[in-house]
Amino acid sequence: MTELPDTAPADLLRSLTVLYVEDDPEIRRQLVLFLSRRVGTLLVAENGQEGLEQFRQHRPEVVITDIVMPLMDGLKMAEGIKAIDNDIPVIVTTAFNDQDFFLNAIEVGIDHYVLKPIHLDSLLDAIRKAAKNVFQQRVIDSKNRALQLAATVFESSVEGIMITNRDNEIISTNRALSEISGYSADEVMGKNPRILSSGRHDRIFYREMWNTLQESGHWQGELWNRRKNGEIFPQFLTISVERDKRGEVAHYIGLFTDISQRKYDEERIERLAYYDPLTDLPNRVLLQDRLARVLANAQRDQHSAAILMLDLDRFKNINESLGHNVGDSVLQAVADRLRSCVREADTVARLGGDEYLVVMGDMDNAQDAAQVAQKILSAFNSPVTVDGKELGVTLSIGISVFPNDGEDEQTLMKNADSAVYSAKEAGRNTYQFYTRDMNASMLETLMIENALRRALERQELRLFFQPQVDLTSGKIIGAEALIRWMHPEQGLLAPCSFIPIAEDSGLIVPIGEWVLRDACRHLKAWQNAGFTDLTVAVNMSAVQFRQENLAERIIAIGSETGIDLQHLELELTESMIMHNAEAMIESMNVLKALNLKLSIDDFGTGYSSLSYLKRFPIDKLKIDRSFVNDITENPADLAISKVIIDLARNLNMRAIAEGVETAEQLRLLRENGCDEIQGYYFSKPVPAEEFEAMLRAGKHL
Ligand code: C2E
Ligand code: MG
Ligand code: MG
Repeated sequence: MTELPDTAPADLLRSLTVLYVEDDPEIRRQLVLFLSRRVGTLLVAENGQEGLEQFRQHRPEVVITDIVMPLMDGLKMAEGIKAIDNDIPVIVTTAFNDQDFFLNAIEVGIDHYVLKPIHLDSLLDAIRKAAKNVFQQRVIDSKNRALQLAATVFESSVEGIMITNRDNEIISTNRALSEISGYSADEVMGKNPRILSSGRHDRIFYREMWNTLQESGHWQGELWNRRKNGEIFPQFLTISVERDKRGEVAHYIGLFTDISQRKYDEERIERLAYYDPLTDLPNRVLLQDRLARVLANAQRDQHSAAILMLDLDRFKNINESLGHNVGDSVLQAVADRLRSCVREADTVARLGGDEYLVVMGDMDNAQDAAQVAQKILSAFNSPVTVDGKELGVTLSIGISVFPNDGEDEQTLMKNADSAVYSAKEAGRNTYQFYTRDMNASMLETLMIENALRRALERQELRLFFQPQVDLTSGKIIGAEALIRWMHPEQGLLAPCSFIPIAEDSGLIVPIGEWVLRDACRHLKAWQNAGFTDLTVAVNMSAVQFRQENLAERIIAIGSETGIDLQHLELELTESMIMHNAEAMIESMNVLKALNLKLSIDDFGTGYSSLSYLKRFPIDKLKIDRSFVNDITENPADLAISKVIIDLARNLNMRAIAEGVETAEQLRLLRENGCDEIQGYYFSKPVPAEEFEAMLRAGKHL
């Protein structure tokens, strides 16, 4: 602690409040003149009573008083003052020089006096001496205040503070330190701060910290420490060295904040920026980063690398028929499965929607990629379970290989994308390597999609009708409506070249509605022409069938065209109705209530559950063309056809064989009890006018 001044410094007199009491006007005038220029505030009184009053009101720090005064003398006044504040120095000016005065003065507690006539320097001297305590008190007060402030700051700081001595033993800590570390002040007192260390940093880290401290007197940085409960936490730490007068280290002062929350926030923000929140897979941004790194490494090490682009097959169906929640769960399940298929070093990312991507670095040859692709496809052999329900999920994979199929990310991605398209075209649930002509076919697909959008308004779509013939009577009993596209440049296009594209793009909904209306319109015309017993069969796509308001649309079309719906037949496929069969039974019942007919197209190619088949409100099974085709050569196909015919009979349905091309096929079918046929043998699909002509001509088997 710095030493206190023995006398008040001269300039400090100027901050002093002094009370001067004197009844003699002449002495008073002179002294007031003298004092007022030297002290801070001068209070003046003419007698003891007035002096005491002034004291009470203004609390001067030093009092100078005459002794003999009217009303109340100086000693009496001093007594009054001392009674209020015993520490107030009182300087007495006196002409008396006798024993009595001094005895009385001492009794009252007066220890300063100046003899009259007043020698001004002595007076000043006396004031300084008298004020000494005042100044000392002031210094102490301000030091105390500063210390108190420091202590408050120390204690209430949200930063943990730790002070160690030169031997690095903890000598003081604050509350925040205890709160953050879990150690009480007593527990750490005298210990080395090492007790907080996490073990996460090596010797070199600490050595560098100490070096910096010694050299610059400061260190700051992020550091992992350990709480009393064992938990490791990150902190931001500042250490300062305090040195004594000789320059020796006296203390180390450490201030730290717990930055767990900040770290957590930073990580969360990073996750949001780089990871897909639904599947927790890297997103496009992070993918690009990883891909760039993989390619750079491949370039450097002369290795190859591959990207596998994956697209779920018919995910739109799942999303639209089962809802987005189920869709999301499927996407998550797919992500999990994909993760389990790739090597640790490979990246699986989600590009958005139902598109995923796998980046494989460090490959010896392209076969590695094929193996992974196959592994992924196999992983989806078994269905994924969502909400206790099993859903079959397959994907199509396109592969592009660095450097053959592209040397930069963009080209590789683009080419893998083309390969996905061709995997889809190849029937889905398969993988394809990129080849150069793929781009052309993908481009074509895109062009078709665009042209198809306009085909409806430009009235480029046509319905052809293929007669269906009853084998008992040999007469035409109806027709299947089959769509064609009169493409302005490419001529008449078969449905297989554009229906899948319409299904993928959602265009199938307006197209399907057009087909229904156009088929009904023609039917009405034929009915008006007197052919009242015909049934027209229309093909339904899955997406179209799952339209929520399908029944209402059909009713509207029926009344708009004026046909009785019992003459309309909808062709569904096996895979369409077996997928989520329970829900399908309901939808089919709704449609059946409209009194229309339902048939299962391409029967035998998909998977049917007999128990469900019994419960489906189905009128007709259509034996797939592939069985009919080989029925004369392949006994198995004949057997299958027979089974389907028997099945239909047992379930109270009719059986129709499609794709009948020869008399021999017809004979076998007839022998085995098939009810109806449709095929080139009788007629190819023909324009409506031709079909009508056939009716008019009474064409029959
Ligand atoms: P599908 O419903 O199984 O139609 C039967 C297909 O077999 C038709 O092909 C027809 O022309 C063909 N076909 C008929 N008889 C014979 C034959 O004796 N021999 C041979 N080799 N083929 C025969 P198309 O018209 O090319 O239709 C193909 C598929 O396109 C249809 O198969 C159907 O699934 C779909 N499709 C056609 N029109 C529509 C439509 O309006 N909407 C929807 N969603 N799909 C349609
Ligand atoms: Mg059909
Ligand atoms: Mg068919």
